[in-house]
Amino acid sequence: MQKQEELYSGKAKSVFTTSNPDQLVLYFRDDTSAFDGKKREALSRKGMVNNRFNAFVMEQLEESGIHTHFIELLSEQESLVKQLQMFPLECVVRNVAAGSLCKRLGVTPGLELERPIFEFFLKNDDLGDPMVNEYHIRAFEWAEPQYVEQMKKQTFAVNDVLKALFAKAGLILVDYKLEFGLYQGQVVLGDEFTPDGCRVWDAQTREKLDKDRFREDLGGVIEAYELVGRKLGVEFDEALPI
Ligand code: ADP
Ligand code: UDP
Repeated sequence: MQKQEELYSGKAKSVFTTSNPDQLVLYFRDDTSAFDGKKREALSRKGMVNNRFNAFVMEQLEESGIHTHFIELLSEQESLVKQLQMFPLECVVRNVAAGSLCKRLGVTPGLELERPIFEFFLKNDDLGDPMVNEYHIRAFEWAEPQYVEQMKKQTFAVNDVLKALFAKAGLILVDYKLEFGLYQGQVVLGDEFTPDGCRVWDAQTREKLDKDRFREDLGGVIEAYELVGRKLGVEFDEALPI
């Protein structure tokens, strides 16, 4: 499937139409951003690493019965996906306290949460992606209540699968962000799951192996993403099935 017109160019990916009106090409660029796009840099090999990492995770989730938009890898930096009507929401799950949760509530970073915490954020860079609740979502019609329930249910299902997968690889899945959309009336997981949108620590040393390395100028960003991928079973050097 060839990409046609560029529909949208985001902070890290570009989205293209294809000859099939139900399918899109996601092009994973090397561009990296943090702090709602205020810090930006192109990191060599990032597009390839994230494209393959995401394909691996999406396939694991499909095998566990979670519906995702992922269809197939097209090239080193491109994946074919189902076109979704995206909800303008970010679903964040936290297993360990970190990031904005600690700043907002004064909680100690690294505190293990007995039960995962779920939070909705509005996807709006100009407003700094503010946290919202189900009353806001209903009032402003960002998603119908039945879809809100589905997003929560599927996010927790993803957590069960990925927490175990990461733990088996000697990694702690601290927190992450998911985006969902509608496909033929069904809530389906879209966007990406990569170290760009999650926090992952080494279980032994608690070393940060995710985008916090970029946020905090720790260096070795893509090396860390690749290390996490290899520990999980991603084959970065395998020939593409094309
Ligand atoms: P951002 O928009 O936050 O800068 P990206 O650079 O990752 O993020 O851009 C990718 C865009 O594509 C996001 O806005 C995301 O919501 C959207 N998207 C991801 N998957 C799909 C899909 N299957 N169908 C339609 N849009 C999608
Ligand atoms: N996250 C993301 N995109 C966003 C906001 C958050 O991918 O626009 C991810 C982030 O990488 C982390 C989790 O969601 O894994 C929780 O982020 P948090 O609310 O702590 O915000 P941060 O302090 O990272 O901006």
